[in-house]
Amino acid sequence: MKPAQILASLSQLDHQKRPVTLVAIVFFSLVCLSLGGMQGWSVYKARKVQLQAATLSAANITQALGDHVGHGLDLADGILSDLVERMHLQAELSDTESLTRYLAERTRRAPLLQALALYDAKGALVPGLANPGSANPDATEIVREHLAHHAAMADDALFIGAPARAPGNGAWILPLSRRLTLRDGSFGGMAMATIRIASLRDFPGQVDIGARGNMLVALESGPMVLSRPQNDLDVGKDMRANPAFVLWRQQKGEPGDAILSVGAAAQGGDIMYSYRRVAGYPLMVALSRPTDDVLASWWDSAYLSTAGVSLLLLIQLWLGIRLYGQIALRDRLEKDRRSLQKLLVKKSRSLRRQAFKDALTGIANRRQFDVRLNWEFNRALDEGAPLALVMLDVDHFKKYNDRYGHPAGDECLKAVAGCVSGGRRRSDDMAARLGGEEFAILLPNTGLRGAIAVAEAIRKRVAAHQMTHVAGSSHCVTVSCGVHALVPVEGMTAAELVDAADRALYLAKTSGRNRVRAEGTIPPAGGKRLSLVVNK
Ligand code: GH3
Ligand code: MG
Ligand code: MG
Repeated sequence: MKPAQILASLSQLDHQKRPVTLVAIVFFSLVCLSLGGMQGWSVYKARKVQLQAATLSAANITQALGDHVGHGLDLADGILSDLVERMHLQAELSDTESLTRYLAERTRRAPLLQALALYDAKGALVPGLANPGSANPDATEIVREHLAHHAAMADDALFIGAPARAPGNGAWILPLSRRLTLRDGSFGGMAMATIRIASLRDFPGQVDIGARGNMLVALESGPMVLSRPQNDLDVGKDMRANPAFVLWRQQKGEPGDAILSVGAAAQGGDIMYSYRRVAGYPLMVALSRPTDDVLASWWDSAYLSTAGVSLLLLIQLWLGIRLYGQIALRDRLEKDRRSLQKLLVKKSRSLRRQAFKDALTGIANRRQFDVRLNWEFNRALDEGAPLALVMLDVDHFKKYNDRYGHPAGDECLKAVAGCVSGGRRRSDDMAARLGGEEFAILLPNTGLRGAIAVAEAIRKRVAAHQMTHVAGSSHCVTVSCGVHALVPVEGMTAAELVDAADRALYLAKTSGRNRVRAEGTIPPAGGKRLSLVVNK
């Protein structure tokens, strides 16, 4: 490949080259970002799944607790309804014996009942009808409250009172009552049952609500019925300010579940609430758990996986930095190598040029002359055109060197070279220094006469230079020229032209120097050789 082609290809490759370091930085940044993003996304997703599972579990627990409380109330209400029906059928509260048996039997079959009793319109316990197996809910505050409610309300709806301590054993009870209406429609008293809250609390023994989880059952009017973990001090407490209660009330009493996370600064984190209405009764059940507890296992795995990914990112970063360093180093090396290569190409071009140039005079050297001579000779052969050659030698130059020294001789040669290559010349002409003090001028498309004119002009120019040469015959530097011209024919070689010009030069030397001579032999048959001898 030629140097110019190499340079062109290099600059084209340079143009196509993209900054690898930038690409590497972008690539590594993208990898790190996507790793980090994927980790963030999977941690976020895992949190969501964990919360969803906890939500579902909380909804199931509140559903089961609601059902459990509802069944207890159903049972007690069923007994009360039955009792009211029986009383309605009887003319008066007279058949106390069978009623007493009935009450005893029902109470025995329903261990969740603390007591079952009938009261007349004045609130007096109907004698003999109290459940003999348990302490009677005597004419306490509870009885008065329930009687007042039923006296005021004409409907037969079940009335559930606030939890209270049972007279006697002091256990927490939930009182329920139904109105007794006489046949004439007047108020006849009430049937009352009290449910042992402890029996409602039996549920759910094995439900896991976490160490800080809380379940509660409360009346819609506010009083708490039970809570878990068990805390008797809270029973009866007004729950209307409880966040779960507030949220539930905000739903305007619509039955159903709702799960919300509410900031609870007092406990230092969000709380997850699930609440539900007990079907058919004015009660609600609620479950609350700190989201930190719910997410405890998520935190563990999130920490672990984030630590793993962070380590991976660090390793990646370290590798990326090393790779960047390597790429940058290679880039620099390649840049240096490329500029060195360009330098070498330029140098080799200049060396090539110098290889065809004479170092002292700067005109073409022997090598270039030979190449050009052959080329011009072949061209002249092809075109049938004349080709002329002038051989030129400085006269008595040895003496000049001896007299003025070698450096002066060099300066003289430069001046002669200037005369040889200067003047008004065709662009095709080529002046060369063949070696020593010998020069040649190749003149394409030039006949002998023209070549002699060129030689003569050069001879005169050198002489006109008046370079002192006391040892020379003219006391100044002169040159002798041998000229020959021919139209090449098949079988002829360029050496013949050179030999002929050389012979003419020899003739010029022997015939007195400082003159131009042309080779005068006749060309062989078929050749069209021009020759002329010009005597000075
Ligand atoms: P003639 O007139 O017959 O040509 O005599 P001449 O002395 O010029 O010829 P000769 O061949 O005897 O001497 C040529 C001299 O040219 C010999 C050498 O000292 C000198 N010479 C050759 N090359 C250089 C050169 O590069 N620089 C210098 N200064 N002298 C050179
Ligand atoms: Mg010579
Ligand atoms: Mg000479």
